[in-house]
This record gives sequence, C-alpha cells and structure tokens, in this order.
Amino acid sequence: MKEIRTRIAPSPTGMMHLGTARTAIYCWAYARHFVGGKFLLRIEDTDQERSTQEAVDVIINGMKWLELDYDEGPVYQMDRLGRYKEVVDMMLEKGLAYKCYATKEELEALREEQMAKKIKPRYDGRWRPENCVGKPIPEGVTPVIRFRNPDTGTVSWDDMVYGHIAFENTELDDLVIMRGDGIPTYNFAVVVDDIDMKVSHVVRGADHINNTPRQINLYKALGAEVPEFAHLPLINGPDNRKLSKRNGDASVMDYEKKGYLPEALVNYLARLGWGHGNDEKFTKAQLAEWFDLRHCSKSPACLDPKKLNH
Ligand code: GLU
Repeated sequence: MKEIRTRIAPSPTGMMHLGTARTAIYCWAYARHFVGGKFLLRIEDTDQERSTQEAVDVIINGMKWLELDYDEGPVYQMDRLGRYKEVVDMMLEKGLAYKCYATKEELEALREEQMAKKIKPRYDGRWRPENCVGKPIPEGVTPVIRFRNPDTGTVSWDDMVYGHIAFENTELDDLVIMRGDGIPTYNFAVVVDDIDMKVSHVVRGADHINNTPRQINLYKALGAEVPEFAHLPLINGPDNRKLSKRNGDASVMDYEKKGYLPEALVNYLARLGWGHGNDEKFTKAQLAEWFDLRHCSKSPACLDPKKLNH
C-alpha cells in the first residue's frame, strides 16, 4: 500500500487561523491513523511582502501548543527557489511552459476588451510560441513564465469530501508559474513541493477548489502521480459569516491567551465538521483511531464559543 503522507502548508502572513489549526488536526489524525503515516509542515513564505518571522514562530508555537507533532519539516519555500527554477527550465525546454512578455497595460486592455464583449476575462495565449512567430521581443520587459494549459477536455477529481468535481479546460487559462523576479506562484510551488515531499493526500480549505484543476494539469504535465484531494468547508463565526477577527476569536493564540486547554480546542475543532457517533469528548489517540477524511461534512461549520469549555 502507498505510504500516507499529509501536510499542512500555512502562509506566514499573520495569525494562525482556527481553520488552519483544524486542517492541521485532520492532516495529523489522518496520518496517525495509518501505520507509518507521516505528517509534514511546510511554510509557504513566497509572499515576501507579507511573510514575517513572527508569523512563522506563531505557527510553530501553535503546532507545539496543540501537540500536533510533525515528522518532517518545516520546509521553507524560500529555501527552494533553485528547485523551482530547475523545474521551470525543464518545462521551458520541453515546451510545457513559455515566456510571456505581455505588459500589465496590455493585459489590462485585453481584460477590458473581453469585459466589454461580456466574455470572462482570460489570458489569450498571445505569447505561446506558435502565436508570436516573428514578433519582436519588447525591450525592457522582464517576462513571466506561463504554463501551457491544455485547450480542450475536462479536468476532474473525486474529492474525498465533496465527491466528483469537474472543470472544463476552456475555463482555465495559461497560468503564470514564475514571476519576473524568479519567485514561483502559489499553484506552481505547491505542486513541485507536494511532488517532492511525496504528499499522498492534499487536505486544505474549500477556498482552494478553484486552484485544484490547475494543479492537476501541472501534475499531469510533469508526469507525476496526482494525489488525493480533500477540501474542507470553511469555518464560520457565530454570525454565520466566514470567521475572521471581526466576528470572533479567529486565532489559535486568542484561545491560548484566554487559558483554554489545548486538548479542549483540538477536541472542539475536530468536531467542527467531523464526528464519531455521539462522542463529545475523545483523546487524541481516539481521534487518530476514528478519524476518516471521507466522513467530514460538506457544510460550513459554525463556531460556537459557548460549546468550548475552559
Ligand atoms: N498556503 C496555502 C494557504 O495557506 C496552502 C494551501 C494548500 O494547502 O495547498 O492557504
């Protein structure tokens, strides 16, 4: 049987959100459910303007406080720039990707034109090699690298939570995989990392569902095995809106500061979207024994602080 490897891959751009903590709990429990299963930590720090060391520390301390032990990592994306470049160079060489010299103004004009025609804005492939034969390379423009997305067909997967999901390739465009400054974009870095880290199950928030078809196309182009995906519905605040600082205590640290016991928070978060019969309280060992991604709920869970005891 294939080795079970899950990962949590937060971006260190602020607090550790309860949604991240719940994803980490599910990834941890799923890995621990299987003999030899591994749980990994990756820090997605490529957004250099927003990433801070303080936020990295918050994540690492939060994992420690919640006692979510990981087997490998933290792996930092900024330490892997050479690896992303290596994959990009290989893709350029094989014609899986190409350099795009379109300027911001040009893309903005294209967007406006498409909007005026009531077409969904979409990059038109103008720098695909076959579309720019003889076209001069503009001076002073640093190109981005785009992935050549398939033009036809459907891309689909059987999500472990949401079931079958399909997208038409015509809905997707040629994704930028590397910016002019050599920094990879999220969708590309995540695929290269998940391949290299041999992740078998990608578990993350449902806000990433639209990214998954793009990532599957990348896996296929790279000749890699596509992992299983499980998207988790978002956690809402007591007012039934997406949980944020505005409508509740959204950060793990808020609970630590208020004196909640980490076991109580783990127990509570695990039950927001998953359950085991009528059991309200369970140990981490029981969670690992009982947990199954396939039994997670599809509907958003609502945070109710009253149900969380000190
Ligand atoms: N860095 C992404 C986030 O924090 C991770 C998404 C993923 O797990 O692929 O949302």
